[in-house]
Amino acid sequence: MINFTVGPVQSSDAVRAIGAEQVPYFRTAEFSETMFENERLVKKFANATEDSRVVFMTCSGSGGMETAIMNCLNKNDKALVVNGGSFGERFVELLTLHEIPFTEIKLEHGKALKPEHLAQFEGKGYTAFLLQKHETSTGVHYDINLVADFCKRNNCFMIVDTISTFLCDPFDMAATGAGVMITGSQKALACAPGIAVMILAPSALERIEKNKCCCQYLDLKIALKNMERGQTPWTPAVGILRQINVRLKEIDAMGGAEAEIARCAELARYFRDKLVEMQLPFEIVSESLSNAVTPLHPTTQSANEIFLKIKDEYGMWICPNGGSMKDTVFRVGHIGYLQKEDYDKLLAAFADLREKKFI
Ligand SMILES: *Cc1c(COP(=O)(O)O)cnc(C)c1O
Repeated sequence: MINFTVGPVQSSDAVRAIGAEQVPYFRTAEFSETMFENERLVKKFANATEDSRVVFMTCSGSGGMETAIMNCLNKNDKALVVNGGSFGERFVELLTLHEIPFTEIKLEHGKALKPEHLAQFEGKGYTAFLLQKHETSTGVHYDINLVADFCKRNNCFMIVDTISTFLCDPFDMAATGAGVMITGSQKALACAPGIAVMILAPSALERIEKNKCCCQYLDLKIALKNMERGQTPWTPAVGILRQINVRLKEIDAMGGAEAEIARCAELARYFRDKLVEMQLPFEIVSESLSNAVTPLHPTTQSANEIFLKIKDEYGMWICPNGGSMKDTVFRVGHIGYLQKEDYDKLLAAFADLREKKFI
């Protein structure tokens, strides 16, 4: 199978080799070194300030989203949240569950965030802003600088879900002034699922210190205390943390975040150019694309039927959509261990389906 989804994605041979090894005991100086190296490289790739801290939570990306909300916000906050798809919706559900007062900025699927969406909230006493930098479900890459400027003017604490855009599109945590950034092990980090990575700026550390977190397992005070010695309070997904270490060093050796972003951009460009050239019956449905994924609306066949056909008859996974987009949108990812030749195979499969009048 060739995997063109947005996670889990294909891993490099070195990362996969770690998966085949015995999982080592971890209360050791050696494992602490691995954790410190992971912290250093994640901060470097996100351009976080020196006084930022990193925690590695054993949960998927959604666990990182919930951890951020439980530890950094409380009932005295007044939050703004962008909801342009299923991940924005998840933030809305979490804010509701944890009883954080909020206002939702609801965007139609595929639409970009524009200054006029924010204008009405200027000077209205908002204290926090939550958004996906890239809403993966619709493939819309939001203008983070627009939000960063709003947050600076309005003194808003910013929580950014960069889960599918970290290492795919440029992100400068220091420049945006974000308080929290969240990513996950199975997206562009291209490791097994199971770890949420969170960078916490000093503004977040201050909030965490003052806040009461009503969940011991996800309490960042405890996680941060342990991370002072390169450890976690509970047994983490040790094997995945070792995969992350190999992967971060791999990226570092190949030129760092910039080179990885350029590699991802090149794959995305290659695929998109071919789509146009071949005149396949698919329309790109996002106003603002990330390098991570191409969201497509097939004009002649159900998106889900195409997904099933490509999986069952051609041995490849493209990424299906759920809910109301099940039949109208599928996505093709550009993250993980993929090459141009892989896209040639996918495009050949599409051409074959057109030949057979399936699409
Ligand atoms: C994948 C993803 C998540 C988290 O998903 P998990 O399945 O919990 O890892 C959250 N936000 C975005 C934008 C994502 O792409």
